[in-house]
Amino acid sequence: MAYVRGARRHPMFVLTITPEMEEQIEKDIEQAKRDIEAKLKAVKASKPRTPRRDTQPCGTTAGYYRHLRKREPMDDACRTAGLAHRAARRAGIKPKRKLSPCGTYAAYRRHVEHGEQVDDACEKAKTQHHAERYVERMARREMELAA
Ligand SMILES: [Zn+2]
Ligand SMILES: [Zn+2]
Repeated sequence: MAYVRGARRHPMFVLTITPEMEEQIEKDIEQAKRDIEAKLKAVKASKPRTPRRDTQPCGTTAGYYRHLRKREPMDDACRTAGLAHRAARRAGIKPKRKLSPCGTYAAYRRHVEHGEQVDDACEKAKTQHHAERYVERMARREMELAA
């Protein structure tokens, strides 16, 4: 049997990997690296250069504030959205937050309120939530008893 590099490291491979194969593997790795680099470059080139916060569409609060910040002319859609937001804030109404993703207690509550089917992730979140509340209650009770 011919001597093969790395023989002691991995006896199973040693019998099948020849120096020629090793060379080929190294070439393949180099090729794969070049492929990945080319793909990364392509992805970078295809991304828009404008920062994300400047891509919000008109007719949103974000659009309204972007116009103000950049001193751009204000369109009606943005003015309406912005004024509504300001009015709501003045009235003490918190802006409606984004819908909570599944797997949170808020999402579970939403499912129930809307009569939707509760998925596993949300079911788990509810159980977790109740468990946490339970632990909190018990801890409070213990503190009250100790006081
Ligand atoms: Zn606008
Ligand atoms: Zn859900």
